[in-house]
Formats: sequence, structure tokens, C-alpha cells
Amino acid sequence: MTSVGQEMHRLVERLYPLCRSITGDGVRATLDIVGEYLPLQVHEVPTGTQVLDWTVPQEWNIRDAYVADAAGNRVIDFAESNLHVLGYSVPVDTTMPLSELRKHLHTLPDQPSLVPYRTSYYTPTWGFCLAQDALDALPEGDYRVRVDSTLADGHLTYAEHVVPGQVPDEVIVSCHTCHPSLANDNLAGIAVATFLARALSEQTPYYTYRFVFAPGTIGAITWLARNQERIEEVKHGLVLACAGDAGSLTYKRSRRGDAEIDRVVRHVLEASQRPHRVDEFTPYGYDERQYCSPGFDLGVGSLSRTPYAGYPEYHTSGDNPGFVSPKAMTDTLDVCREAFGVLDRNRRYLNQSPYGEPQLGRRGLYDSLGGRSDAKQAQMAMLWVLSMSDGEHTLLDVAERSALAFDTVAVAADALRDAGLIKE
Ligand code: ZN
Repeated sequence: MTSVGQEMHRLVERLYPLCRSITGDGVRATLDIVGEYLPLQVHEVPTGTQVLDWTVPQEWNIRDAYVADAAGNRVIDFAESNLHVLGYSVPVDTTMPLSELRKHLHTLPDQPSLVPYRTSYYTPTWGFCLAQDALDALPEGDYRVRVDSTLADGHLTYAEHVVPGQVPDEVIVSCHTCHPSLANDNLAGIAVATFLARALSEQTPYYTYRFVFAPGTIGAITWLARNQERIEEVKHGLVLACAGDAGSLTYKRSRRGDAEIDRVVRHVLEASQRPHRVDEFTPYGYDERQYCSPGFDLGVGSLSRTPYAGYPEYHTSGDNPGFVSPKAMTDTLDVCREAFGVLDRNRRYLNQSPYGEPQLGRRGLYDSLGGRSDAKQAQMAMLWVLSMSDGEHTLLDVAERSALAFDTVAVAADALRDAGLIKE
């Protein structure tokens, strides 16, 4: 049996070895693989393009990198793990003593067996990352240092997939694609987004869902710059990150704090009785900080399991495919599907017969409940929807106030709408 969880995990494993960064062929190779699961529209934005307050940087590509001892043995090797190279390292080919090389070496003394993930996007330099244990084992002496990379004018690459809805109003689902061999911190989000898009494509959702696969920060900024003219169409959004670890779910509210997506996700997490936590917005973390910047102020929250920097494996070689599980990714996917199921059906109605209760029996609305095991709840849901359909309250308001399941409320609203008793 191949479950969706196993398929997502397989995707994580396939993407894991690729050397992604904010630009370059690793991102393209990643999008090529995601493209096997989901048709993607890939955008290439030239180096030097002004995007909001930023500029698209030079493109970075790397073929090989290593530190070798006097005998030619590679003691630090990019071919073994791309984490061994400082992201965006400029090319270098020289020999130097360990004492001098140390200035370019990054370790985690408190987690001596793990290799850290480090980058230097905007300050040109080179470096290597390795386990403290490995560094401690290196004898003094001269080492050959080589980074075979290029930094040149090129492009920033990002991709979109659109699931057309019944209305042009959009929900964006965004995940970052700029981390190299790190599983929870980007690949799990990519995998969940990919299978979420596939699930939504199976029917025509109410909203149009736009999936954005872009490098962190500069990618989201580029997307915003190129969509500024039509940003009013974006009504809701979710940033997916750290979507596959064993921790419970964390939802971080949009900057607005009371956006519809904030209420919907909180409702779904609470109603499902999953262990979870809801955090207030902070202008740090993932790309919600761009989407929620005050000029855009979009209703975009962020769904994670253990959030940003909240686990010891974060930004280390410990964040590998073994750190994320099919079960956890499936759980994250389920919550997304449930939340969008609520978002898609959340409406505001106006009672067309607001003077006294309308006679439900005469319209066959009681008969439709006959024999149903949840008949009492279904009837209560109708009464609640009629009572609160004053043009101000949404079905989510009804569900929360009545403590009825959203689904029960939405089904009751459909029946009342079909009977002409409420109108959007
Ligand atoms: Zn990260």
C-alpha cells in the first residue's frame, strides 16, 4: 500500500540531495521533480531586476568543493553532503595551513556530531561547514581548499501552480525552496503543498488556489513585486514550513490577527481536538513576514509543526529525511484540507424570512431530517443559521457560537438556501 504520506516522503527523499539555494540549478532541478507531480509555471527573473526594495542577485551554481589533506584525501567533501559548503561561496582554489583555514570553518560546538547549515548571500566570501568532532580530528598542516562555483548574472527561479476555482478570488499557499539538504525546513512543506494542490485539483474549489514555490525572502519579495498590481485578488493565504516533524501543529496568525484564515485554522485545530498551539504574529520566521508587510497586509498565516528554530535539528544535518515522517506530513496535509474546506464554504447569509421563525415543516425541511441519527443537531443548525443570518455573521460564527460542527452548519445552510430562506 502506498499512502499519500509515503508518496510525500518519497518526494522529500528525491529532493533531499539537490543543492538548492536562492538561485541556481538546484532550484530548477527541484522544480523539475515537483513538476512530475504537478504542472508548474516556472518564472525566471533576471539578475539585477529591481523587486520592491531589493535587487535580484547573481545566480550561484556549484559543481564541486572540498578540503583535502596533503595526501589528497578529501576531509571535507561537498559530494558527501551539500551542507559542507557555505551557501553562495565564491570560487577559491588555494592551499593554506589549518590555522588560517579555521576562519572559514563553521561548526556547532554544542552539537559536535552535526554539520550546520550556513549561507552568505549578500557578503561575498567562502566557507565550509563540518561537525565539531570532524574538525577536532584534523591534524595541523597544509590543506588544499577548492570551491568550484560560479556567481554570475543569471536568474532567480520560482514556480506557480494554479488550481482554478469558481471565483477569481485567490488563496495563496507558499513554501520556500532555497534550503539544500534539509528535510523539515523546506522539503516537507514543498511535499505537503504539492499533494495539497493535487487534492484540490480533484474538484473545483470555491476559491482559486495559487501555489507559490519560491526561495525564501527574495523569492517572496520577487513574487509580490510581480503581483503588486493584482494583489487585491489575494484574499487569504498560508505559508507552509517545517511541515513534517514529530511535534504537534503550530499556527502563527497573520499580522492582522483576526483575518478569516486565522479564525478558520484555529477553529479546525480546536474542533479536531489535535494537540496544537496558536501563536501571535511576529515579523520573523518565514515568508509570512513579506506577505504581511504593512503595504500588502495580506491575511496570510503560517502552518508548521514545531516552528522555526524550535527543534535542535533545525538548520543542521540532523534535519534529514529520517527526521520527517509520512504520518506527520499526512496530518499537516489533512489540516490544510480541512481548513480550506471550511474557508471555501464560509459565507455570510441574509435571512429572507426574518420576522419570526419561518415554518420549516411546510417547506419539507423537517422531513429531510427524518431518520437521520444527527436529526436533532441538523435541526439546531438550521435554527442557528436562520437566527444568525443577519448579513453580519458567517457560518464559522454560527459554528463557534452554537458549538456545532462546521460541516453540520454548512449542510443546514445549503438546505435553507435551496429552500429560498437565506441568501448570500
Ligand atoms: Zn531555514
